[in-house]
Amino acid sequence: MLTAKKVKDVARKLGADLVGIASLDRFEGAPKQMDPRYINPDAKALVVIGLRIPRGTLRGIEEGTYFLSYSSQGYGSINMIYNPFILYHLTRFIEDHGYEATPIPNDYYNWPAIEYGNGKMKKNWSRPVSPDKPAPDVFIHFRIAAFCAGLGEIGYSKIFLTPEFGPRQRFACILTDAPLEPDPIYDGPKICDRCMLCAKECSANAISTKETIKVKVAGRELEWGKLDVEACTKGFQGLKPYEKYNPFLGEPSPAIIYSRAIEGARGCIRACMIHLEKEGKLKNRFVQPFRRRKAWKME
Ligand code: SF4
Repeated sequence: MLTAKKVKDVARKLGADLVGIASLDRFEGAPKQMDPRYINPDAKALVVIGLRIPRGTLRGIEEGTYFLSYSSQGYGSINMIYNPFILYHLTRFIEDHGYEATPIPNDYYNWPAIEYGNGKMKKNWSRPVSPDKPAPDVFIHFRIAAFCAGLGEIGYSKIFLTPEFGPRQRFACILTDAPLEPDPIYDGPKICDRCMLCAKECSANAISTKETIKVKVAGRELEWGKLDVEACTKGFQGLKPYEKYNPFLGEPSPAIIYSRAIEGARGCIRACMIHLEKEGKLKNRFVQPFRRRKAWKME
């Protein structure tokens, strides 16, 4: 018999650092375009797996000397290689037990027919196959999915925070018709204490300290600072008018836009992680503190 425990054990053996299971009723009230039940109306569970962003991938950015590790090993490889590997093999495991499993990678920036930005649909190259359905592709909000699977909470930064790694993980999902026991919604000690360092330390000023977004998920009120996704993207990639943050940029070139973690998640990941580690809130502990020297900041 396929149980939630068996699925979680296999996910962990395959390399998942975190795994939780959400029941689909927790998505009641979600916008049609973001409701996983439209992907498989017979699904019974959403398995959410998380892989940590190793702290050391941020070391070179912290020192101002090596940016590649985070954008490659802390970002692209997790979303494009490691999580899809686990999804594929976990899907096979579930389907070997006679249940269908739909892998949902965090790959919305490459393949979908719909492009999102600043919380809105920006481009849509598709249309619904019938009036009662959303247009393909339905977009699952991974942080909401992780919340529904009991893995932690959404911080003021809108980054998902877990008791294990704070802001350092990326998620992917499997939607299945296997009747797997859901995990309870996270009810542990509050992780985000509204210190606001994420907003203060963000070089791109992408997180509003004044405006917030409130949503109701699984009967709970969630709130985070309004995020300017375009400012965040420009801060990350160092493009106009943020090229001043890019220590590598000579001639602006389209080829460079995906290659540099310029801002290095200065507020939402580094400042937040440093704060949560200092507060002793994270289970993944290190011998040395992350910040060991005065932090650099480009003018
Ligand atoms: S930096 Fe502070 S306010 Fe921002 S998400 Fe982390 S704990 Fe919350």
